[in-house]
Amino acid sequence: MTTTTTAGPAPTGARVQGFTTTAVHAGQAPDPLTGAVIPPVHQTSTFVQDGINVLRGGHEYSRGSNPTRSAFEAQLAALEHGERAFAFASGIAAEDALLRAVLRPGDHVVLGADGYGGTNRLITRVLAPWQIASTPVDGTDLDAVRAAVRPGTTRVLWLETPSNPLLGIADVASWAELAHEAGALLVVDNTFASPYLQNPLLLGADAVVHSTTKYVGGHSDVLGGAVVVGAAQWLGAPLAEAVGFQQFAAGAVAGPQDSWLAARGLKTLSLRMERHQQNAQRIAEWLLGRPEVAQVLYPGLPEHPGHDLAAAQMRGFGGMVSFRLAAGEAAARAVAEGTRLYALSVSLGGVESLICYPSEMTHATVRGTALAVPVDLVRLSVGIEDVEDQLEDLERALSA
Ligand SMILES: *Cc1c(COP(=O)(O)O)cnc(C)c1O
Repeated sequence: MTTTTTAGPAPTGARVQGFTTTAVHAGQAPDPLTGAVIPPVHQTSTFVQDGINVLRGGHEYSRGSNPTRSAFEAQLAALEHGERAFAFASGIAAEDALLRAVLRPGDHVVLGADGYGGTNRLITRVLAPWQIASTPVDGTDLDAVRAAVRPGTTRVLWLETPSNPLLGIADVASWAELAHEAGALLVVDNTFASPYLQNPLLLGADAVVHSTTKYVGGHSDVLGGAVVVGAAQWLGAPLAEAVGFQQFAAGAVAGPQDSWLAARGLKTLSLRMERHQQNAQRIAEWLLGRPEVAQVLYPGLPEHPGHDLAAAQMRGFGGMVSFRLAAGEAAARAVAEGTRLYALSVSLGGVESLICYPSEMTHATVRGTALAVPVDLVRLSVGIEDVEDQLEDLERALSA
């Protein structure tokens, strides 16, 4: 299947196609057979051959490729400025495939500490028995990152920025430099920013991972993940080949229906993200003025320590806001359980507002360890609902 996968640099003087045009059209051409404007869901496991190994459109069996999945992969690759994207059944499945594609027993991973709890669990509990070691580091402290690298053994630096749930901002270009000096790859989990606000491959990263369950899908109705790679080589071959092999050979692929839902969501990413972050900025500023709130963590606030860096490497500050309660743990729990519009739930990035208590929900697996998150912290996934309704809900929960 030939689809344009990159919106590469334009020749001097030429306009570069806009993000939303690419989101709507990349990989999403009308069905050549029927003229259907929307590419259909190819709900099939296998494809008829016109002779032995004579394939139509390159498709043989849906674990290897499926037109609906390929269409979504082309769309996401274009938006991340990657050469190839690979869609998986979940974000964790995507991470697992990438790590197993690049790591060998004895290798070491430097892991941004303030990140998705499940990534930490994957590396320290699923991969550790296969002799993969890891060191957590504060992603905003480049000296700590440098000190954690073990030359010749560290093969992957893994970064999440903005981080979860503390919304720290790490310098992707500097991390890339440290990785490449050490002969390692830089992987960036771009789930929080989404390709609309940040393109790590353009900042020097070798691979990007997404939980497409979040902003890419955008409607809390599908689970999915993706790996997007640029031109990086690994172990003497293109990194894309190693990831593609892993996707096919281990088989945790995104199904056609899920790929279709993710692709449909991705078309409106820019519109949703604009509203998410407009609401988030307003809510973060409002929380600053509340006596119940001890600290607001949102990179869009000028007092946030990563504000300038975020302004330089991102195109906006995103829709996630965390805050700490002056009265401590009990107050944080009460707020998390006290909203009505904001649903008490893990996950994020959907059109509806969600509230969570990270210490015991998203980050329960690291409670009691060095990676534990503050017990007075509440995290908001700010939805696209009218901001006045959101403020009213938060006001009620805070003053209860
Ligand atoms: C949710 C999430 C993941 C895991 O993705 P799943 O789709 O739940 O498997 C990874 N990274 C981040 C930042 C996430 O928010």
